[in-house]
Amino acid sequence: MVAELIAVGTELLLGNIANTDAQFLSEKLSGLGITVHHHTVVGDNPQRLAQALETARGRADIIITTGGLGPTYDDLTKQTICRTFGRELELHEDILEEIRTWFRNKLGREMPENNVQQALLPVGCVVFDNPVGTAPGCAFQEDGVHVLMLPGPPFECRYMFEHRAARYLEQLTDGVIVSHEIKIFGMGESSVEEALREPMTRSANPTLAPYAKLNECMVRATAKAEDREAAEAMLAPLVRQVRETLGDVVYGVDVDSLEAVSSGLLREKGLTLSAAESCTGGLVAKRITDLPGASAVFRGGVVSYTNDVKAQVLGVPEELLEAFGAVSEPVARAMAERCRTICGSDLAVSVTGVAGPDTDDRGNEVGTVYIALASAEGTVCQKLSCGKGRGRDRVRSAAASHVFDLLRRYLTGLPVGV
Ligand code: ATP
Ligand code: MG
Repeated sequence: MVAELIAVGTELLLGNIANTDAQFLSEKLSGLGITVHHHTVVGDNPQRLAQALETARGRADIIITTGGLGPTYDDLTKQTICRTFGRELELHEDILEEIRTWFRNKLGREMPENNVQQALLPVGCVVFDNPVGTAPGCAFQEDGVHVLMLPGPPFECRYMFEHRAARYLEQLTDGVIVSHEIKIFGMGESSVEEALREPMTRSANPTLAPYAKLNECMVRATAKAEDREAAEAMLAPLVRQVRETLGDVVYGVDVDSLEAVSSGLLREKGLTLSAAESCTGGLVAKRITDLPGASAVFRGGVVSYTNDVKAQVLGVPEELLEAFGAVSEPVARAMAERCRTICGSDLAVSVTGVAGPDTDDRGNEVGTVYIALASAEGTVCQKLSCGKGRGRDRVRSAAASHVFDLLRRYLTGLPVGV
């Protein structure tokens, strides 16, 4: 099955917004074993949309459009699709009632008359109702081509894909497609590909494909089989082989993030954490508190950006700061140890480094970062090089990721710095 995504919206062409719907959908489709060959973007223009649809129906089995389902004059997706595929639009009273209710309950007002348009859907389509917005989506098949229409607003698009469209697509393929995501930190995408070349090229089912992510990478193993059990049986040896080949850079399978894994380990062991941060400016605290239920494991922290705050709030000895500079192993260690005492946590992490763009006054390169982890057993420290031509944001997010990886390694008994 080959799919083509058509994003409708002049704002996308003007560069006002990025086509994040396409990014999301492509990733999900590959997880379903559906290949995407083209992304197309067209403005809110019926002639050009019709052209794009004609082209797409000649080369894809599945066309998914995003946007243009709203009630305004420039929302022309449904009308244009119906004209292109020779379908009429019909009014769905039940959908109209849902939209009216949505306006009353969620917006506290009556539905404007032009929203009636949203309850007009192609004859004989499968309706994707929209509990998180007003515009319903839908799908139909014509001449062997499946056409799916999803709303443009990213939250609605995602919701409708996951809760409505995915099921429709799953039914198009015989059997089931199951995939597992193997998450990797501390090994680049090209090294991963090199190490896994053999299993990656071995077979068309199951497949193994690499994806680069911010600061990390991921390998997705996908199998198609008659039922879930058979697919899992195909995947198990493959996932095992990847784990064995890559070793402890694999931080989890089907897990959300490094911080989710480390905070899960803290929870499991009944330990608490605090963080003293300099160059990351609170990013470690932010990433762990983004997770629901963080208060069970995270006590708090100090953003000790200047030397004054490192000394006066955290209590890092002034002599250390003077002798070694803020970006140094002794200061990183002292930050973690002091933070652990002040916050009363079982463990404390610290980060101090040069985020750039300039080197620091002691000649440390951009990207030089020290991270430390203090516990009742002592303190470990790592010197990192997160720079190599990366901007400030990348250095900071890489440093924060390293902190969570250090924590994961410590909590699972893997070797950690010195
Ligand atoms: P609405 O009912 O809000 O009008 P719609 O389905 O008609 O929804 P559009 O009018 O095309 O969708 O887009 C609504 C908003 O959704 C846009 O202003 C934009 O912020 C966002 N959006 C649309 N398409 C995309 C896309 N492909 N990627 C990311 N955001 C998008
Ligand atoms: Mg609109």
